[in-house]
Amino acid sequence: MQILTVPPRVEPSRGRGDVAAGGPALAVHGGAGARRTELSLEQSGDYESGLRAALDAGAAVLQEGGSALDAVCAAVAQLEDDPLFNAGRGASLTAAGTAELDASVMTGEGRAGAVAVSRHARNPVFAARAVLERTEHVLIVSPGEEVVRGWGLATVEPGYFVTDQRRRQLEDVLARRQVASRSGTVGAVALDRDGRLAAATSTGGMVGQDVGRVGDSPIIGAGTFARARTVALSCTGDGEAYVEGAVAHEIDARLRHTGCSLEEALAGTYADELDRRAATGGTIGVTGDGELVLGYNSEGMFRGYWDGQESRVFT
Ligand code: ASP
Repeated sequence: MQILTVPPRVEPSRGRGDVAAGGPALAVHGGAGARRTELSLEQSGDYESGLRAALDAGAAVLQEGGSALDAVCAAVAQLEDDPLFNAGRGASLTAAGTAELDASVMTGEGRAGAVAVSRHARNPVFAARAVLERTEHVLIVSPGEEVVRGWGLATVEPGYFVTDQRRRQLEDVLARRQVASRSGTVGAVALDRDGRLAAATSTGGMVGQDVGRVGDSPIIGAGTFARARTVALSCTGDGEAYVEGAVAHEIDARLRHTGCSLEEALAGTYADELDRRAATGGTIGVTGDGELVLGYNSEGMFRGYWDGQESRVFT
């Protein structure tokens, strides 16, 4: 397993109370999987600039003193708008050639919102946020066009999400010329200046998936989780295994109950929940102290971080 840990940048003058606080900090991912499958679509340089644009969008929010929730939504929306990534426009298609989008958000305060099989919201991550802020629910499946408009969000025709590249990819997968990839999902985690944590994840799921199939990305505790002062997490990979292993929640539980580091919690969870299911993927996380961890057991993961001063991306 590959794990990168970035220590918090601590500015004592900005400590909260007696404790010197880290942050702001931000990490993003653009999916984990076989590099061949996704990288064959385009040059890796394009993925790099896509990840940089997402980091810039999120970091700009945090630098202005904005909330972690605003930052993860800004970063994820940027990746949803980029047709290279498997979320929003350019998402993976179902076996029927349709785009069925899933997204979720969660704040450290314990509030969450998610949509599954979303077809109308231009940015599924904003729809997930609307579920958190405008409804009494956590997860809404297939929110109607009127509902999305009622949330004050931009809607688009279903064809907006479907790119030629993804159509060709689906044809190849259905003709068994290519293995169905589960990669390219996007996510972000952030710690803001006020010590608030948030996470967001967005995906089109797996190429050629059954119509109506929902993976881990909109499932709180599986693909996304956040808890105040502890951690914010976003996962990508073989969705079914992340749901069965309640992976994001398991990482948080290990942190709280064993007092281990985030790196150890992530490695232990992957060993116990993913290895035994022969599943692969990756997770990004930020702790309440501003430590960033980016780990994966797949061939590669599009990822990047901003530690409050510097940003780095890896493709
Ligand atoms: N986890 C996503 C899903 O199973 C796929 C991915 O991460 O690329 O829907």
